[in-house]
Amino acid sequence: MAGQGALCADFRIEDIVIDSSDRLIFIKGKGNYKENLQTIEVPTPGSDSIRLINNITTFTITAPARYVVDIPNATLNGPNRTYKIQNSTVLQSVQLAQFSTNPHIVRAVFTLNKNTDLTKLSTHTNGTNIIIKYSPKIIDNSIQYKFYTPTGDSGTGSGLQNTSAIVTYNNTNESKAIVPRFQTRYYLSQVSQNTDGLILRGIGNIAYQRATYSPDNTQASFLLDNTSLISKLDNKTYKIPSSQENTDATLTINKINSKKVKLTLNGNNIRDYRFVISPDGQSLFISHRNFIINTIFSTNPAIVNSYKAQKTSTDYKLIEMFFDKSVTYDIFEMNDNLYLDVNNLGDYNLQAFEEMLTTTDIKVQALKISSDKTRFIIPAKELNFAYANVESNAKSIKLVFKDKPPIAPSEKEPEIIIIANNNQDKKIDIKTVEKLEDKKNDNINVIYIPKQEIPKIEKPKKPKEKPTISAMKKVVIDPGHGGADSGAIGGGVYEKDLNLDVAKIVQEKLMKKNIYVYMTRTKDETLSLEDRVNYSNELNPDIYVSIHTNSTVKEDTYGLETHYFKDNSYDLAQIVHNEFACGKNLRKWDTLDRGVFKSRFYVINHTEAPAILIEMGFISNLEERNRLTKKGRKEDIADSITEGILEYLKTK
Ligand code: ZN
Repeated sequence: MAGQGALCADFRIEDIVIDSSDRLIFIKGKGNYKENLQTIEVPTPGSDSIRLINNITTFTITAPARYVVDIPNATLNGPNRTYKIQNSTVLQSVQLAQFSTNPHIVRAVFTLNKNTDLTKLSTHTNGTNIIIKYSPKIIDNSIQYKFYTPTGDSGTGSGLQNTSAIVTYNNTNESKAIVPRFQTRYYLSQVSQNTDGLILRGIGNIAYQRATYSPDNTQASFLLDNTSLISKLDNKTYKIPSSQENTDATLTINKINSKKVKLTLNGNNIRDYRFVISPDGQSLFISHRNFIINTIFSTNPAIVNSYKAQKTSTDYKLIEMFFDKSVTYDIFEMNDNLYLDVNNLGDYNLQAFEEMLTTTDIKVQALKISSDKTRFIIPAKELNFAYANVESNAKSIKLVFKDKPPIAPSEKEPEIIIIANNNQDKKIDIKTVEKLEDKKNDNINVIYIPKQEIPKIEKPKKPKEKPTISAMKKVVIDPGHGGADSGAIGGGVYEKDLNLDVAKIVQEKLMKKNIYVYMTRTKDETLSLEDRVNYSNELNPDIYVSIHTNSTVKEDTYGLETHYFKDNSYDLAQIVHNEFACGKNLRKWDTLDRGVFKSRFYVINHTEAPAILIEMGFISNLEERNRLTKKGRKEDIADSITEGILEYLKTK
């Protein structure tokens, strides 16, 4: 075993997550591929093996069709597993497996349905996640939320619940788990021009907030929330082409922080520009309104199938419209009204529309503005706020409103508040905002809030201080085996002895840090698993840590493992394993990070406290066994475990 320094992979694969655009599957990681953060790769057809950044490799296999992604320098947290995707016409399952540990490679295998079009599949990375995209859609039955908030509400209102894709998770002992979905982040990666406008493209789902206009209408700016920008587009200005209008309008793109992008339009009569979102939610077309209105977007436009209107107990009013096909739309404000233009809508179903209006006092007008365009007009002056939610296939749009409270607040423009990183609320005028935005300081969070909402602002979090352990903590240390039960044996070395030696050093080190340490055994005695569990449960400690040495018939296997079983133990496992397998102490011992595993071991399943079981090396491997018996290695293991425990306790 030459010292390859392969102890610890830089990147840990945690899980798969489906985002709310329903087009992206994230293989979620922890740790960074250090280069190329936020770099988006150009979509690649799946037919060839292609090396992406950071040497991620993708290729396809036929019969059955599979798309394989190999992630180097990565370990898989938890067991190898298969996710069965139930509500997808594209994907049958995703397997995650530790393909090899030396070198560390995690393999994700996407088993596809027969008719899946491989050219629509692509792989991206944003530094911490590997992102698999299939456009049009991977999952079929969910709602995508998009926000448009005319009063500048920051867009965290109702409707932004986490929803879950129905996905079965097959694991050794678990029949079902839900793969979480999270709110889409949009990754803006491309700008192109055509004869009559600018097209912004990316992945995820684009959503824009209310535009603010300068009084002379020569400038408009609006935010793309929850959006990351590829760095080469930052601070770029583009002319907005027009074949019919005589205009010099431009668009400037600025990154405000890692989650916010600002778009600024400059030119004459800038209110004449529209921001049209494509039916797949992936791109934004910026163009003069005359071009939008005079252009036929579809020769076979959509029709409205039905409407639904509702008032909720919390004074929200909802209108939902359902179309027979995906629509393209834009939202803008003018003359105290909010306008929703659906640009490929042939018939807005007048009769159903009027029926809906009689069931609610929501004041909405519908107006056919050209053969394939319908405008919905909402009197925004009477509203406290409004936003639009659009299903990810753009076959339904839900408008959500809330009326102004009975006592009319001031009619003034919303105030602008800056929450600065110095922990002081500051009220600052627009110019100051722009100056601050120009600085693009990640720590400055610019939030636009109407004045009446001010009391709801949360104080910004203090800069993270090093947490300290406030009260005396209780830790149970369980040296595995003992007495008649020797545990694994290799070359005359007994596991029970190694376990006890290391456990005692951990005890000593923790006690020096003012931790109460309870040992299940301090000498070579026989204890049942129940004894250990009962001991811990009676003490009600903060954590339970069982120390073991591993063994297998494959004599060349070596390395470090951490096991947990219950969800309450996951953080403990991660934090301790990180110190243990990636900390400085064990680097010199030429061992290997084998990862964090979810394992139904008796002691970590039946203890009530967060519980982990550490396998500190393989007694069955000759070289590792020799090192495990060395005092220095025992000290280093104990140091790592102690540091991990202290680190975890600081978070509690
Ligand atoms: Zn053991």
